[in-house]
Amino acid sequence: MTALGRTLPRPSQQEGACLTLAPILERGQREVFCGLTGITWLHRKIQDAFFLVVGSRTCAHLLQSAAGVMIFAEPRFATAIIEDRDLAGLADANEELDRVVARVLARRPDIRMLFLVGSCPSEVIKLDLSRAAARLSREHAPDVRVLNYSGSGIETTFTQGEDACLAALVPELRSIDSRSALSLLVVGVLADVVEDQFRRMFTALGIGRVDFLPARSRDALPEIGPSTRYLLAQPFLAETARALDARGARRIPAPFPLGVEGTTSWLRAASDCFGIGEGRFRDVTAMAAHRAEAALQRHRVRLSGKRVFFFPDSQLEVPLARFLSRELGMIPIEVGSPYLHREHLDEELRLLPSDVQLSEGQDVERQLDRCRAAAPDLVVCGLGLANPLEAAGITTKWSIELVFTPVQGYEQAGDLAELFARPLQRRDMLAV
Ligand code: SF4
Repeated sequence: MTALGRTLPRPSQQEGACLTLAPILERGQREVFCGLTGITWLHRKIQDAFFLVVGSRTCAHLLQSAAGVMIFAEPRFATAIIEDRDLAGLADANEELDRVVARVLARRPDIRMLFLVGSCPSEVIKLDLSRAAARLSREHAPDVRVLNYSGSGIETTFTQGEDACLAALVPELRSIDSRSALSLLVVGVLADVVEDQFRRMFTALGIGRVDFLPARSRDALPEIGPSTRYLLAQPFLAETARALDARGARRIPAPFPLGVEGTTSWLRAASDCFGIGEGRFRDVTAMAAHRAEAALQRHRVRLSGKRVFFFPDSQLEVPLARFLSRELGMIPIEVGSPYLHREHLDEELRLLPSDVQLSEGQDVERQLDRCRAAAPDLVVCGLGLANPLEAAGITTKWSIELVFTPVQGYEQAGDLAELFARPLQRRDMLAV
């Protein structure tokens, strides 16, 4: 692939085919949001779903501050606050939950799916939410399906809430006839505008049937089976992938669609799987790829040669480090991720510079020490670390913005680069 003024090495030739440094494995204090955070983008995507967190006042505050206060719109999420109870009070808690669900559904006849979302307070852990979901589903069938998953901070980091939600959806997908022609399933929440762009590209490539998980509504949920080939759009979907595999679907290995190279490789992996010729592939992708390369050019000037350090947060760290190093000339020093899924990240890890230090898990104090010693130009981290690092004179980028902003695909490549260029630009302006 030709980027403006330079040629990106093909994966088989690139320098990082073998990482020379062993990953640092850490299990210590973590600085991450919990999986409830995912509700803020999941409720926008699945337009007839309601997310009812079964949790504490802390959970309600997190959700309210992450999603913002909706004054004019009726929100499609809420928290049922379960106060401290002993086991004898559980029957009451279930009755209360049933009452809350009945009230929500009476008020919102547009809701077709309701997710009970578990959290970490001990009084919630005592409740069996899968039983509650089955009971409530029976009660409200056929209009509303009630499902459950956990967003607990004990089990999940903030993007894993999406994984748990999508994994809960997989049993809802109808089985496709095993004699059906191959179909493509794109898995992972994408902004509607990005989903529409990809759908147009797959159609232009000639891939007949393309579905997305999650769908925008319950009625649009795709069918799956052994003739389904799926492409992950996000790197944090291990549980969902396992559930799809168990239904006979097969994953198409690919890097993730971040940046020009990532998008081209992701589309090409699907294209190869469906037997699309190289000529047609180029006809469909060349113009958009060229536009995206042009959009990257102006950011390369600011970012090239700058050293970047990733704290573990979104699980997008490895694809982002690949994009920043290969397309913008940045130098990743340490790339920390809460969890490195070796199989799903295989194509990405091979594209990283060979001398990058990977770290998995977190011991925040030790990682802060390494970060200060490395004195990077830019740190990508969660909100909790950004303020103290900024106060210490280190420029930061909030990783959560990378999940809230449409960043996948050709048309968004320039915006993605800009997210990293902006903090450096601000720093330069303040320094004058
Ligand atoms: Fe806090 Fe746990 Fe509730 Fe998340 S689920 S807001 S970590 S109490």
